Amino acid sequence: MKTSSVQLSVIVPSYNEEKNTAPFYKQLTKELTRERGLTYELIYINDGSSDGTVEEIRKLAKKDPRVRLVSFSRHFGKETATTAGIHVARGKAIVMIDADGQHPPQLIHDFLKKWRGGAKVIIGVRKANQKEGLVKRYGSKIFYSLFNTTSGTSLTPGATDFRLIDQDVQKEFKRLTERNRITRGLIDWVGFDKDIIEFVANPRMHGKASYNVSMLIQLFTNSFISLSLAPLYLLSIIGSIFTFIAFLFGIFVIVEQLIMGDPMHLKVTGTGMLGILLVFLVGIVLSSQGIIALYISRIHTETQNRPLYIIDETKSILPK
Ligand code: UDP
Ligand code: MG
Repeated sequence: MKTSSVQLSVIVPSYNEEKNTAPFYKQLTKELTRERGLTYELIYINDGSSDGTVEEIRKLAKKDPRVRLVSFSRHFGKETATTAGIHVARGKAIVMIDADGQHPPQLIHDFLKKWRGGAKVIIGVRKANQKEGLVKRYGSKIFYSLFNTTSGTSLTPGATDFRLIDQDVQKEFKRLTERNRITRGLIDWVGFDKDIIEFVANPRMHGKASYNVSMLIQLFTNSFISLSLAPLYLLSIIGSIFTFIAFLFGIFVIVEQLIMGDPMHLKVTGTGMLGILLVFLVGIVLSSQGIIALYISRIHTETQNRPLYIIDETKSILPK
């Protein structure tokens, strides 16, 4: 890659954002032009949108040579979209921002200030949002406390994808090749000096958020499995505790019923006990197998070694 004179790359992952693209471009460029003398590029990633998002972005590119477009051949998901953005970005600093207006572009000034002050990663941290669904709010709380106590990497609660990274961080990020990925988790993993800026998220301009409960659960398991081996350890601990309790229980029943002749009048039948015990143990075995299967499926997809994403070059406007 040639060394470029671009100072800032702004990555905008876009999935079915037809109605938001033009108004958001206006908001964003208004802020960027306030940074005097700043050279920047806007990198839109079209994540296989089924609406007119590509046409909207191409329209912008016709008027503004700073607009680039990486158009995926199909829907790959936001994490892959932001990854592709980081891969092609040429700026000395890179900002990721949502296309729906929820991340206020005014914050970019503060990001840049902290970056010039030496921070290599500046993370937008979201303050509580009243309107958020209960599932999302409590779900994320539980997620962070579970994650931080078990994984060894610590994530800031409320940390969003709205963040700035330095090109040094980009360089290291590019070396990470795993397929199942959470971009912000990987950025946190890479390390370097971090800083945070708090913000209150705006409501979405148009359309609905494309993350639903099942996608959030997927995101949750993905983050967990990719950065933590705790579930595996946890299972063997639970398994041994259950086996230990079952063992004590067995001894107790043998002594109480068979040797002492049931002084407590429990009248436990053998089949009943066996039934309970069986269900108990089969439950443990099945859940352990489920978790192990998750890890194995991860190994499976990683060893397939497929590319992370496919770019439809006919639709894209790639950096030269
Ligand atoms: N997005 C994407 N691919 C997806 C889902 C979302 O590129 O599969 C983009 C979307 O266009 C938006 C950002 O990621 O710019 C955040 O998505 P959304 O608003 O749906 O989620 P939120 O985080 O606000 O719940
Ligand atoms: Mg949103």
